[in-house]
Amino acid sequence: MDLIREQLIALLGPSGVVEAPRISAVGNWRGHPYNSPLLLRPETTEQVAAILRLCNQHQQAVVVHGGLSGMVGGTSSGEDEICLNLERLQKIESIDKLGRTMTVESGVRLQAVQEAAAAAELFFALDLGARGSATIGGNIATNAGGNQVIRYGMAREQVLGLEVVLADGTILSSLNHLLKNNAGYDLKQLFIGSEGTLGIITKAVLRLRPAMPARNTALVATDQFDKLPRLLSHIESALGGKLSAFEAIWDSYYQLATQGPHLGAPPLAQRHPYYALIESSGSDAESEAEVFLAALESALNADLIQDAVLAKSEKEQDALWAIRDNIDALAAIAPVIIFDVGLPIGAMEAYLKHIETELKSQLGLNKIAVFGHLGDSNLHIVVGTESEDLDIYHRVEDILYAPLQALGGSISAEHGIGLEKKRYLHYSRNAEEIATMALLKRTFDPNNILNPGKIF
Ligand code: ZN
Repeated sequence: MDLIREQLIALLGPSGVVEAPRISAVGNWRGHPYNSPLLLRPETTEQVAAILRLCNQHQQAVVVHGGLSGMVGGTSSGEDEICLNLERLQKIESIDKLGRTMTVESGVRLQAVQEAAAAAELFFALDLGARGSATIGGNIATNAGGNQVIRYGMAREQVLGLEVVLADGTILSSLNHLLKNNAGYDLKQLFIGSEGTLGIITKAVLRLRPAMPARNTALVATDQFDKLPRLLSHIESALGGKLSAFEAIWDSYYQLATQGPHLGAPPLAQRHPYYALIESSGSDAESEAEVFLAALESALNADLIQDAVLAKSEKEQDALWAIRDNIDALAAIAPVIIFDVGLPIGAMEAYLKHIETELKSQLGLNKIAVFGHLGDSNLHIVVGTESEDLDIYHRVEDILYAPLQALGGSISAEHGIGLEKKRYLHYSRNAEEIATMALLKRTFDPNNILNPGKIF
């Protein structure tokens, strides 16, 4: 690294090179280390290309940073690695209202993308709790999911084109603007979800949608788990394609997440075993509200829900979402492991019962909070481990991950693999899949300089 330090300073200027950076990550629950002695802050794609050319020549490892809100240690760094922060790639280059696209540099925050789309009377369909800190480049590099996947799909579905810098400094410009383009391989797909291991995303063409200003939100409660999937299909049909979120919340999470100085009294006074945060979005306020109310009433009549509270203003909507997003409340049972498993809805209840029993009998652990994107077959299970002992962590992980293979489940529905789930990748991917991933990695990055040691 010392060999190229001067060249990097010459390339980026003194303001583009930070020695001994102090890095604090938003989503770093597990305390993955940030030991890089050097942080680079390029301003242009050409600078990113020049950095990689130099690093590749000297076989210097590089770890890319977006908003550092990832959950799996994918941006953690060692003492011999250089960090590359993309926050100065800040331009929203253009919005095409007719073609419904936005071209942005990768360091733009997700929230800024959403706001720019709204200002153009359009809508960007990716949303997640860390919108204020996450960057669009990081969202794409990790194929982020979030709250509206049920209607619009994951980050992958919102991307039409990419500009990527490859490990050797080649700028691969694939800034497609078309919804349909089958002219050969769709190269962008290789980089989406690759967690910084195949190339560095510097620019993206995003797909925008028509604005959906008429939002209706309710928190409902039910007494049996099997009513939740039935409620989901009931509401989905009743809303005729307008359902944009269906977030399941177990009482274990609700009890924690309704506590906090920024929150009022819990919206539902009585306790229930299960809750769902339901949201629809459309264009016409009056008719949407009517359809939404009718959908809830028919669910109530069909005994699918026992209680409900309907948000009557944007403020009340935000208050309901604040409960769902109150991840900070998990501090009450820290230290915790936050799992992000995928499994068929029909298997969820038995799976949760099984892991609860095993955690209790094998490790004496009983602090568990559950919530998740039920419509996406994705649960976040939070286990209080009572200790930060790595051996305990691994035993808890074994208990949760081992049953997933037989269920055709996933150890990571939306957070990615990073460092945290690397040792369990084989539960979700077979040997041939992992060998093909390694083949791609060697092809794109023969010197193994891009985020080495992450994923596999
Ligand atoms: Zn999630």
